[in-house]
Amino acid sequence: MTNVSDLKQRAIAKIDAWRDNLIQISATLHANPEIAFREFKSSALLCDTLEQAGFQVTRGIAGLETAFRGEAHGNREGATVALLAEYDALPELGHACGHNIMGAAAIGAALAVKSVLAELPGHVVIIGTPAEEGGGGKVILVERGIFNDVDAAMLVHPAGRTIVVRGSLASTRLFLEFSGRASHAAAAPEHGINALEAVILTFNNVNALRLHLKPDARVHGIITHGGTAANIIPDYAAAQFSVRAAKHGYAQQVLRRVIQCAEAGAAATGATLKYSTQPSYAELIPNLTLAQAFAANWEALGIHVNEPRADERMGSTDMGNVSHVVPAIQPYIQIVKEGIGGHTIEFREASISPRGHQGLIDAAKGMAMTTLDLLSDPELIARVKQEFVETVQKQQVERLGRFE
Ligand SMILES: [Zn+2]
Repeated sequence: MTNVSDLKQRAIAKIDAWRDNLIQISATLHANPEIAFREFKSSALLCDTLEQAGFQVTRGIAGLETAFRGEAHGNREGATVALLAEYDALPELGHACGHNIMGAAAIGAALAVKSVLAELPGHVVIIGTPAEEGGGGKVILVERGIFNDVDAAMLVHPAGRTIVVRGSLASTRLFLEFSGRASHAAAAPEHGINALEAVILTFNNVNALRLHLKPDARVHGIITHGGTAANIIPDYAAAQFSVRAAKHGYAQQVLRRVIQCAEAGAAATGATLKYSTQPSYAELIPNLTLAQAFAANWEALGIHVNEPRADERMGSTDMGNVSHVVPAIQPYIQIVKEGIGGHTIEFREASISPRGHQGLIDAAKGMAMTTLDLLSDPELIARVKQEFVETVQKQQVERLGRFE
């Protein structure tokens, strides 16, 4: 019987030996940024690499062309651990959220685990998850059952601080379109219906609502269309809002109020409102047992893990939805000076810097080591699942009972 620390050393050595290849993958993704559901080259590169390493790869899963699933199997039945890859970029900004690192790190971890998998029970699956930045690839993958056979899932995100236990806000993107009637703004304004005023009223109504929201709520919007010329009453105007809160249930309540703000804007101006939403991102509930195992591995590599702050600032991720169906974590690895956030030029540059490369390697090692812990220790998996049942599933019952 091989012991797990020996397996971990061999997995780490594999990642070190693969260092240049992994950095090359990350650099290729970075140089060819592809946005939501159009990650054709990126997903092909990751799939090719997995196939060359002997993974069984299915390209295009759950009806998503740029999602994929690779599998490798141990020497007998056992746990199924999922390593998640993201590889989508931001419109115009490119890889300013470092998803190039996330794609390459998941590959590094998967290959390292596979190199010792013949000595272990269980399965490692790598799931390619498109459109995290908009579109919610993981929401769709969850809904279509891609995680049904998974016992635990993880992915590592680059950041300004290394932290393992970190949640995220529940979030929904709301799209508003108002239709009015165009007319000459000076000669015949009485014939017009001003769609832009409906948008402006919506913003003012939301600001009036803001006072009464709980402190964890976040509502922020932009005007995406506001008319074409100052002398024409705008017959069409559009806006986009992001509605977030600590919990999915409250975020949905706030969303309903924001829609009412838009309906009021439409009523006041006579414009008609059409709205739509993108799949909601649930709040991420980190599995603490899994997080503890992961943190111990990073500490063993000499990587300092920060404690979460009481007022930890968070964004949103579709990994939240994964954490509602299987035990999951999304640790963060520091690649940039603290205080520099994602979705900035600085972060994009860090994602291809020596520090970004090191983050990639550390992310891959942490995921590989933790996967080996899970596959080799049925008791650990049992504790991870027990925590999931006692926390997440219980909360879901409460949430469903209260709001839906
Ligand atoms: Zn991101």
